[in-house]
Amino acid sequence: MHEPAVPHLQAGDPEIAGLVEAEARRQFEKIRLIASENYVSPAVLEATGSVLTNKYSEGYAGRRYYEGQQNIDPVERLAAERARALFGVEHANVQPYSGSPANLAVYMAFLEPGDRVMGLSLPMGGHLTHGWSVSATGKWFSPVRYEVRADTGRVDMDEVRDLALKERPKLIWCGGTAIPRTIDFPAFAEIARETGAVLAADIAHIAGLVAGGAHPSPAGHADVISTTTHKTLRGPRGAMIMSTAEHAAAVDKAVFPGLQGGPHNHTTAAIAVSLREAALPGFAGYVRQIVANARALAAALLERGYDLISGGTDNHLILIDLTNKGVAGKPAAQALDRAGVELNHNAVPFDPRKPFDPSGLRLGTAAITTRGLTEERMPQIAAWIDEVVQAAASGDGTVEERVAGEIRELLASYPMPGWAPAP
Ligand SMILES: *Cc1c(COP(=O)(O)O)cnc(C)c1O
Repeated sequence: MHEPAVPHLQAGDPEIAGLVEAEARRQFEKIRLIASENYVSPAVLEATGSVLTNKYSEGYAGRRYYEGQQNIDPVERLAAERARALFGVEHANVQPYSGSPANLAVYMAFLEPGDRVMGLSLPMGGHLTHGWSVSATGKWFSPVRYEVRADTGRVDMDEVRDLALKERPKLIWCGGTAIPRTIDFPAFAEIARETGAVLAADIAHIAGLVAGGAHPSPAGHADVISTTTHKTLRGPRGAMIMSTAEHAAAVDKAVFPGLQGGPHNHTTAAIAVSLREAALPGFAGYVRQIVANARALAAALLERGYDLISGGTDNHLILIDLTNKGVAGKPAAQALDRAGVELNHNAVPFDPRKPFDPSGLRLGTAAITTRGLTEERMPQIAAWIDEVVQAAASGDGTVEERVAGEIRELLASYPMPGWAPAP
């Protein structure tokens, strides 16, 4: 049963209610290893589903374009206050609709169309919005891309510095979507200072780790920090932009009226709830466990002969190059999904294959850690992954159903926030 319960949905729209129930069961029965996903708390679900969705609030607390903000203003103030306290920053804008619009607002705040922007190349682990060609950010700005080294799988800060000195970007992004290693914020800040660039840290993936002390913070190093709220931070789908006081007005103006209309107040409330949860003492233990699980899973995969980009992980994320296993990322991911292990195919650095059919798999441990799985379970998960990948390579489909059953059995004793099977 869904928690909070959804009786009105069941009565009024059984078709959608049925799909919500089926999705909840799917999330309960699978080992969810998509690195950007998690399970939010019932409190976050309740705030997201509240009547705050009925209200228009263009503007900022105390400076709105609509009346009736007696309760919305305190909600937004609380969310921003909690963000500032949790991340140790001077300013937080909690209105961006999601990570991509938040990043677009960073461009709007600091750049003019055509200006030069530097970011980690997409197939090397960067994000579309860091100037990749198919993104508006790559079409409307002039992108320069740094890469990871072929021998280490890591960003080489000397290479970043040389490129920045040569190309003189106005904005430098650090962070990305498939980076298994610690981001060196002080080194990026030094390069930005030396070249006169604005430094933007995109911590969408690692925000929870930063908040809980399991990854160094960009606060005090980056001029501006963007993040989603729904990945390791375990909040609703949304985003924030944080900055020094110096850039507060530019950031706010870029979000509204630069790019957006009314903020999603139900999401703002849910962000506030998740930030309070992330400030509770248990959250540091949660994110430490995420990293411990990722390390244990990486070690078990290495033992089984898997080629991990950079040789392992410092955070929640693992990137596998399947080339030596004789199967591509997509068919492997599809076989794993049928077998109850959900992850995504991903490009690996210097991938000889095409982006829609790449060589790698990306996985992360944020969601399974929320379920309560610990290090001792990781060798078994690696064994299941190995068995299914090998079967996929040899075209043997018989193991998938058996593994899916074994996984359902294991996960039955790990409760899921937001749903429980009928007793
Ligand atoms: C997920 C992600 C985003 C985009 O977030 P959306 O909410 O999907 O738009 C931006 N940057 C990074 C590094 C991300 O991982």
